[in-house]
Amino acid sequence: MNASGLSHGNLKGRNIDLASAVRTAEELYVKRNPKSAAMAARAGGHMPGGNTRTTLHYSPFSLYFESGSKSRVTDADGNSYADFVNEFTAGIYGHSNPVIAETITSTLTRGINLGGSTVHEVNLAAEVQRRFPAMELLRFCNSGTEANLLALAAARAFTGKPAVLVFEGAYHGSLLYFGGTGSPLNMKFDWITSPYNDLDLARAAIAANAGRLCAVIVEPMQGGAGAVASEPGFVAGLRQACDEHKVLLVLDEVMTSRLGFGGMQGQLGVKPDLTTLGKYVGGGLSSGVFGGRGDIMAKFDPAQPGAYPHGGTFNNNVLAMAAGFAGLTKVLTKERLTAMNQLGTSLQVKLKAIVARHELPVQITGTGSIFGVHFGHHPVRSVADQSRNEKGREAQVADLKKLFHLDMIADSIFLARRVMGDLSIETTESEVSDLCGAFDGFLSSHTEIIRDAMA
Ligand code: PMP
Repeated sequence: MNASGLSHGNLKGRNIDLASAVRTAEELYVKRNPKSAAMAARAGGHMPGGNTRTTLHYSPFSLYFESGSKSRVTDADGNSYADFVNEFTAGIYGHSNPVIAETITSTLTRGINLGGSTVHEVNLAAEVQRRFPAMELLRFCNSGTEANLLALAAARAFTGKPAVLVFEGAYHGSLLYFGGTGSPLNMKFDWITSPYNDLDLARAAIAANAGRLCAVIVEPMQGGAGAVASEPGFVAGLRQACDEHKVLLVLDEVMTSRLGFGGMQGQLGVKPDLTTLGKYVGGGLSSGVFGGRGDIMAKFDPAQPGAYPHGGTFNNNVLAMAAGFAGLTKVLTKERLTAMNQLGTSLQVKLKAIVARHELPVQITGTGSIFGVHFGHHPVRSVADQSRNEKGREAQVADLKKLFHLDMIADSIFLARRVMGDLSIETTESEVSDLCGAFDGFLSSHTEIIRDAMA
């Protein structure tokens, strides 16, 4: 039962056809969310599609949220959800963590636009470096997108070479998107693309283009592509190929840094030339970090002749610097990070067992606290596998994702439409059980629909 008093149990579509099931789910969604609907209509007059963040756009209209507390969010209509979006991994602390809230409040009263360097950025830089020792020197910026743009621009300037090897399906930010046919907004680098998790092809591409490649940029697990983990040896193999051919390796750990105390690079034992971070590093406020080898990053030292100029009004904004430092040092201990990732791993094991029991063409992907759900018969190691799974049934898969997303929302579980989810340190075992129960219920209710759509 939700705030509008509607019970969804008997309203959800059961083993009817896919189009009818989607329609039923949409009708229920519209009934439950009149205030979000009104807000979306109003927003349409001001922002294209009523939206200022493409990732958050979904049909028939996006939910508008009013508040969050610990592991839950509440929408404008008063419906409360177990949050499994968690701001696409930036919300690692859950909502309104008291330590971070207190830090922000007390910092706020002492001035936030000081126009000078502060102790906060030094504290945070030291703590980031403690966790990511490959960042011999680092700089802050405002987002993961910015961090990647700066890392690649630095790699190009440092090596004097124009090309970057990137992997199909990668998301390195809103101007660096390599899913589908790519984005017309992408920054102009001399891009070379290679399939994810195919080390032989990547090695060949690096060898063939060594003379013009400044960097290889890679996510140790592709997040935007749907939590597609790198296979053992893939990232280490890239490191080796980069060394052989004098190409820089940039690890985009904007999303994956949460998967270990020292990120995935710590887990994999790979030392990148440059690393990028973002998401939770500013304690939930906007921030980004890029850093790495001392000789590369020293080029940003303004006292050096010919230094790379890198301004940014809010690079060291005091709220993010202070909140980030408090979060990393007082809240996100190794123990809490490990417990969150272990709970995420157990969730993935349970989801896989549920799929196996139903014998349905559904794949569970992910690492630790980040997971993906894919419709298709074949394991997903890359976006090419997803395309193969979906070929000729793209519309049905889009409908299945929509149905799944709306059904989860009806069950008070908030996931991303694409379908991807992640935990925060506040996510409880009982919420993980609720997600598993809702997933089980979805597969039971729609067994024939899923089989037919993927036949
Ligand atoms: N890289 C990766 C791997 C990401 O997941 C994201 C954000 N989803 C970004 C870069 C961009 O970060 P931001 O949204 O802070 O610009």
